[in-house]
Amino acid sequence: MSFKSDIEIAQEATPQDIREIAAKLNLTEDDIELYGKYKAKVDYNLLKKDNGGKKAKLILTTAINPTPAGEGKTTTTIGVSDALSRLGKKTIVALREPSLGPVFGVKGGAAGGGYAQVIPMEDINLHFTGDFHAIGAANNLLAAMLDNHINHGNQLGIDSRKITWRRAVDMNDRQLRNMVNGLGGKGNGIPREDGFDITVASEVMAAFCLASDIVDLKARLARIIVAYTRDDKPVTAGELNAHGAMAALLKDALKPNLVQTLEGTPAFVHGGPFANIAHGCNSVIATKMAMHFADYVVTEAGFGADLGAEKFLDIKCRMADLKPDAVIIVATVRALKYNGGVAKQDLNQENLEALEKGLPNLLKHVENITKVFKLPAVVAINQFPLDTEAELNLVKTKCKELGVNVALSAVWAKGGEGGEELANEVLRLTEQPSTLEYTYDLEMPIVDKIKAIAQKIYGADNADFTPAALKEIERLTKLGFDKLPICMAKTQYSLTDNQNLLGRPTGFNITVRQVKVSAGAGFLVALTGEIMTMPGLPKVPSAEKIDVDESGVITGLF
Ligand code: ADP
Ligand code: MG
Repeated sequence: MSFKSDIEIAQEATPQDIREIAAKLNLTEDDIELYGKYKAKVDYNLLKKDNGGKKAKLILTTAINPTPAGEGKTTTTIGVSDALSRLGKKTIVALREPSLGPVFGVKGGAAGGGYAQVIPMEDINLHFTGDFHAIGAANNLLAAMLDNHINHGNQLGIDSRKITWRRAVDMNDRQLRNMVNGLGGKGNGIPREDGFDITVASEVMAAFCLASDIVDLKARLARIIVAYTRDDKPVTAGELNAHGAMAALLKDALKPNLVQTLEGTPAFVHGGPFANIAHGCNSVIATKMAMHFADYVVTEAGFGADLGAEKFLDIKCRMADLKPDAVIIVATVRALKYNGGVAKQDLNQENLEALEKGLPNLLKHVENITKVFKLPAVVAINQFPLDTEAELNLVKTKCKELGVNVALSAVWAKGGEGGEELANEVLRLTEQPSTLEYTYDLEMPIVDKIKAIAQKIYGADNADFTPAALKEIERLTKLGFDKLPICMAKTQYSLTDNQNLLGRPTGFNITVRQVKVSAGAGFLVALTGEIMTMPGLPKVPSAEKIDVDESGVITGLF
């Protein structure tokens, strides 16, 4: 079988002028800031514009535990939005912006796939409107002001061995992970250990995505802890007087980016925090703006539902007072087989036995959404070219037997038309009354909140804590950070903290090695295992295949 590549499909499309896309939302040329013909920024002050008091339906797309290749959440999110548009519903899709790290590394871009993409995909995947550069600049301004403060007398008494703030760049570059800088003797800074994180892992990104407006963003930036003093008092960006200039750098970045799908559905693509040490979904402002202008908003949370959806609901929805009206849980025959123990290279072969063995993973995620969070859910089977009829039928039959709503989704191959079955089911679900219940109460002690996530969401017997983690929890509680929500940093491949335990494991504990406060973002990060905040490139990075010709046409992106 041979298929057109994502970029070939995207380049064959005839995009509409972005002013026409804006007009679908009743936005005039005055309301938008043009970035060329096919991209625009939309001022957040338009959130104050009267929308007749209408309340949009919010639909969340999440997934089972993924395979290393990604399972098509973004593709499904875009495809179902196009299907809703085809059914005559005023729809906006809200997505994260891609990071250059995966674009040039292994995974590739993040603008959907097949006939369910947002365009211009080359621009969206490469720099886009420069938001990530602005976020990196804000991060690095804070780093520069911190070292400068120490250089000029260190009035705040910062212990240079207890600096927690790192520099950032939007690139996979392991060479920058750990370094000594400030070398060169007197007049060239103070030598210390330092390092870079990828921009999407910066706390500035998380704060940016959770901010309700520029004033709230500035307050969040001021709360960021950059270091501790010799007697362990936190030092913040606010004490360094950095927050105002950082927010100034982010003034335009904070405006959501308007683009379109292949079928002309308006899309906000804005912000993109990591889904491990941060919460993994597009900006609150973009979600709210989409809900302000449309009747149906479809958005995506990163990784599987154990990480992405849990954080979307327990962190983002709680902070921003949002509630999804329906949840789509994407499953693929491939990912189910992977969860049933099939190796990545063998996923293309029919294997009903492994498929059935992987199904409990899907059922656990369905249970979490419907029984823990109490939200209506539908399983979307994202159909891949090599899925067999027998495999697709097995998933459908098993789900139905167990009373789980299920719809086949062929949006990758057919665009919106291939998503109508799913869209109709989503429409039905959004009419059902529901109230979102959180996994834990913010008033609970930190340890109990983490245990609640481990037991209710992962199916663990308990959560263990290292002595270092317990000590830090005690310290953070004394500092008054104990009422914050929890951002779990865990492998995405397993419901446990061991990436090799697939399916639906039972009889396990998770181990929390360390807890960190992201005071600006407004959550506590609970780290299980090693979490990489500056990835590296593989032996043959996808960057080697990317090129541009004399007329500016880009090839090799995927
Ligand atoms: P996720 O959001 O879950 O990480 P994406 O939607 O970005 O996944 O899809 C990952 C990759 O898989 C993309 O390159 C996309 O083109 C491809 N893909 C998604 N769905 C299908 C499908 N049904 N058939 C073939 N390839 C697909
Ligand atoms: Mg995605």
